[in-house]
Amino acid sequence: MEAEKTHTPSRNGDPAADRRAPPGHDPLEDIKRRVYLASLVVGLPPIPLLWATARPGELFLRVGLPVLAAFCLWCMWALWSRRVPLWRLERAVFAAISAFVLGQLAFRIFAGTGWNMDQASLTETTYPMLAILCIIAQLIFDTQTALRLSLGLFGTATALVGAGALVEESGHRITLDQTAWIAQQSAFLAAVIALVYATSYVKSQLARQRTLAEAMHRLAHTDPLTGISNRRSLYAALRREMEAARRYGKPLSVILFDLDRFKLLNDTYGHNQGDAALRRVAHTARAALRASDHLGRWGGEEFIVLAPETDLDQARHLAERLREAIALDRPPGRPPLTASFGVASCRPDDSPEDLLRRADEGLYRAKAGGRNRAETAV
Ligand code: GH3
Ligand code: MG
Ligand code: MG
Repeated sequence: MEAEKTHTPSRNGDPAADRRAPPGHDPLEDIKRRVYLASLVVGLPPIPLLWATARPGELFLRVGLPVLAAFCLWCMWALWSRRVPLWRLERAVFAAISAFVLGQLAFRIFAGTGWNMDQASLTETTYPMLAILCIIAQLIFDTQTALRLSLGLFGTATALVGAGALVEESGHRITLDQTAWIAQQSAFLAAVIALVYATSYVKSQLARQRTLAEAMHRLAHTDPLTGISNRRSLYAALRREMEAARRYGKPLSVILFDLDRFKLLNDTYGHNQGDAALRRVAHTARAALRASDHLGRWGGEEFIVLAPETDLDQARHLAERLREAIALDRPPGRPPLTASFGVASCRPDDSPEDLLRRADEGLYRAKAGGRNRAETAV
C-alpha cells in the first residue's frame, strides 16, 4: 500500500527518463531526493577522516566506518539512478544508521576498550547521533511510528548502558562517573525526543484541524451533485456583491435559469441521466463564465449567476451566450436540453429579495414566452 503511494517506477526501464521528472511525478519526492543527496555529499567526507583518526583499539570504527562509507556511496547511487523506491531507501538508511550507532555503543561497552575510556568518549557520538535519528525518523515516518522508533532506540541505548553498568567482567565495569555522565546524556536525548514530538504533534493537530475546517466549509458551501456553489453560498455572495457594487458604484446583475421540461428528461431517461445532465449544464455554464462571475445551483434544476460589474444589457448578452452554450451541448443520441433565463440588474434601493424576485419574474416570462429564451422583468 505504502509502496504504491511512493514508488515511482522507472519508465521503460530508462533511468535517465526518470531523472527528468516525468509529468505527474511527486515533486516532494524530488525535493527529498535532492536533500538526501546533498546531505550525503556533505556527510561522506568526514567518514575517512574519522576512520583515520579512530583510536587503534576502536575495532568497531575501523571496520564499521568503511562499511558505512560504502553504504553511503550505494545510497547516493540509488538516489541518483532512482533504481530503489525512496520509501525503501529511507527505511534502509534509518535501519543502517540505527544499527551503526547502537552497535558502536554496545561494542564500546562490552567488547572494546570502553571500561578504560573516559566518560566522554564512551558515548560521545551515540547520543547526538540518536538525537539526529529521532529527527530523521520524524521526516521519514508518520508521527506515531517515529515516536515508537525513537523510544525504541532510546530504550535500547539505555538498556545497553544499564547492562554495562551491571555486568562485571574481568574487573571491568562502567564507573559511577560514567553512569552519571550517561544519565545526563540520556536526559538530554529524552528532552530532544519530547520536544520533537510535541512540536510535530501540535503541527499535525493544527494541520488536521485546518483540513477538517476546509472540508466542512466545502461541504457547507458546495452542491454535492454538481460541485458548484449551493444556495447558501450564493446568497452570501449576493449580499457581498450588492454591498460592493453599491460602495464602488458598479453595476451588478443576476441571471436565474431553469432547465426546460426537465421532468420529461427524468421520466424518459431515468433519474441518473437527469443527474448527469445537471452536472453537464453546470460544467458548460462554468466554462462560459468569467472567473469573477459566481455560479450556483439555486435548487432542483434551477441555477443562478451573479455577474459583478455587468449592467443589464451586458447581462442579457451573457444570458444569451449561456443559453446557446447549453442548447448546443447535446449529448450523442439525446434530444437537446435547453434552459430559460430571467435577467435582472441591481437598483440602488434593492434588497437581495427584490433583485431575485425580478430575475424570477423574467424567468417566468421566458417560460411563458415559449422557453429556451432570456427575458427581463417588465
Ligand atoms: P419547465 O420547463 O416548466 O421548467 O418544466 P420542468 O419539467 O423542468 O419543471 P418541473 O418543475 O415540473 O420539474 C422539475 C424536475 O426537476 C422535477 C424534479 O424531479 C427534477 N429534479 C429536481 N432536482 C433534481 C435532481 O437533483 N436530479 C434529477 N435527476 N432531477 C431533479
Ligand atoms: Mg424546469
Ligand atoms: Mg424548476
